[in-house]
Amino acid sequence: MAKRDYYEILAVNRNASDTEIKKAYRRLAIKYHPDKNPGNKAAEDKFKELSEAYAVLSDGQKRATYDQFGHAGMNSGGFSSGGFSNGGGSPFEDIFGDIFGDVFGGGSRRGGSSRGRRGDDLRYNLTISFEDAAFGTEKNLQLPRNLACESCGGSGARKGTSAQTCQTCRGAGQVRFQQGFFTMTRPCPDCRGEGTIIADPCPDCKGSGLIKKKRSLALKIPAGVETDTRLKLSGEGEAGTHGGPAGDLYVVLTVEDHPIFERDGQTVLCEVPISFVQAALGCEIEVPTLEGKVSLKVPAGTQSGKVFKLSGKGIVSLQGYGRGDQMVVLRVEVPTKLDQNQRKLLEEFAAVSGEDIHPLGKGFFDKVKELFG
Ligand SMILES: [Zn+2]
Ligand SMILES: [Zn+2]
Repeated sequence: MAKRDYYEILAVNRNASDTEIKKAYRRLAIKYHPDKNPGNKAAEDKFKELSEAYAVLSDGQKRATYDQFGHAGMNSGGFSSGGFSNGGGSPFEDIFGDIFGDVFGGGSRRGGSSRGRRGDDLRYNLTISFEDAAFGTEKNLQLPRNLACESCGGSGARKGTSAQTCQTCRGAGQVRFQQGFFTMTRPCPDCRGEGTIIADPCPDCKGSGLIKKKRSLALKIPAGVETDTRLKLSGEGEAGTHGGPAGDLYVVLTVEDHPIFERDGQTVLCEVPISFVQAALGCEIEVPTLEGKVSLKVPAGTQSGKVFKLSGKGIVSLQGYGRGDQMVVLRVEVPTKLDQNQRKLLEEFAAVSGEDIHPLGKGFFDKVKELFG
């Protein structure tokens, strides 16, 4: 049988816009839908022909190929048998997206007759401050998400009507087809794997059973979270369709850098500069912690890089096992500018000190000598 021209099938002209094609398809698809024409073989064929035409003309690349090469350009028989095998490129997806909702997407359909589909999980990326991660906090999230449509109770069928068993697959949601020697199954193209068809869609949700709403949600963030910590809120994802359970919400955290502190697990690291005089003579300095300043005794002769531990000043464990420490790393700074007087005093200091001012140096240069003779 000679194939009809795709534009002719959709009754649009060759330079029709995507919207015109979509509209034409929707109008005809509803008219010839098997559910509206039970047992009508001619309508069923029309519907299939229509779907094939739309699969090509709704895809910019396929349409261009078709315009150039006609049916010869389309891989033979491809669209009617292989085109709807899964979610990816199904032409139904975008056209029926707003009529029947996303059907192939989740793949969590359970069993033959139940239409209930679990709602999708949602991911929400949230950035919080270093302190909020350390001590925990509460945040108010504004979440756009799909909720069950109130008018139809999430069924997608107009109030007072209900979805009907798909004639094509008799409610199984799958149809068999022959591939070589094998009989394979694929999701039913007419009901898109649902097993049922909504003839009279709910006008509020256009048959999807879902309404997009912004919802505010109080989120408790426990102390001790880190970047990439995932907080799971069960049942706070997208609503399920046709009575299916809601998905989950995953809040994925990013913790901002802190200008002074770094973090390694439960340990807080902090580098504190002191002058070479302070290091040589010893001193008492104030060091910052997450809960304010504490004083730290620096003994005389402290070397740069020396680490002091402030017990229990770190981050509490997310699992509730105690609290980490803070490590203070001292950086001894050498003055970069000396006035004449300071220079003179240091030269005098060097003169009276001999090698004593260089305690690590002596051993080091002995080793160099051993190495190079
Ligand atoms: Zn079906
Ligand atoms: Zn509805």
